Amino acid sequence: MTMSQDQLHRYLFEEYEVRGELVQLDQTFRHIVDAQSYPLQVQALLGELLVATSLLVATLKFEGSITVQLQGDGPVKLAVINGDHNQHLRGVARVEGELPAEADIHSLIGNGQLIITITPEQGERYQGIIALSEPTLAGCLEAYFAQSEQLPTRLWIRTGMQDGEPKAAGIMVQALPAQSEDHEADFDHLVQLTNTIKDEELFTLPAEEVLYRLYNQDKVRLFEPQPVAFHCTCSRERCQNALLQVGKEEALDIVREHGQIDMHCDYCGSHYLFDGVDVESLFKVVPANDTNQLH
Ligand SMILES: [Zn+2]
Repeated sequence: MTMSQDQLHRYLFEEYEVRGELVQLDQTFRHIVDAQSYPLQVQALLGELLVATSLLVATLKFEGSITVQLQGDGPVKLAVINGDHNQHLRGVARVEGELPAEADIHSLIGNGQLIITITPEQGERYQGIIALSEPTLAGCLEAYFAQSEQLPTRLWIRTGMQDGEPKAAGIMVQALPAQSEDHEADFDHLVQLTNTIKDEELFTLPAEEVLYRLYNQDKVRLFEPQPVAFHCTCSRERCQNALLQVGKEEALDIVREHGQIDMHCDYCGSHYLFDGVDVESLFKVVPANDTNQLH
């Protein structure tokens, strides 16, 4: 597996009380869409969620993870991306039924919600539930920021094909908590500049050049980028723990019926295989009546 070149950039306007983030995701996006053969409309939706999650995770001031989830009664029952403070991301979508050709968030998700769950490694979990009142995911997230952080925030989220490769990228511009009077005008000025971004520029140009094209009249301080990568938390050990909960007899029944146990991860496409010998040795290590102590 090649190392991901994907990066998240944070930047700050020297003369305004405004900060920004820029993320460009190639390998991470490809990993997620390659795990299952998702239809193009669902790939685009996952790409948008991926960009959103990366931008949101970058706002965390503590170690933890964020899950950005769309769920509803439309053909896409669930689309979810999870990311942590290391910018390790993974995601999955569940599709049932016919997808509309001209797909947007409403036709794909139907009556549904955007659910943002913030899980600090230490401390209380926070969950925000937002109605899908806006036509785009970016719009719904802006509503979330208005509701939760009460800081003016704008997002530009783009997905698409560029030179035959799936691309996902985005920008977030957020006002800092400040009191200056020109605050709103400054923010609107930067939003208008950011609005001129073209998909191709965002997908292909280095971050420095994107920022220069957008804000060449303004002083921008660009911080060291953070690498972004696909990372799945599944493992053979986790599957073994799940089998211990299933119990030896039931596990052996599955082996008898199917020849082996095939545990499949929806997030990364990995298969974990266990035959009769694997099951026997797994339960030999931990006697069946001790399994409760593992939970
Ligand atoms: Zn996995």
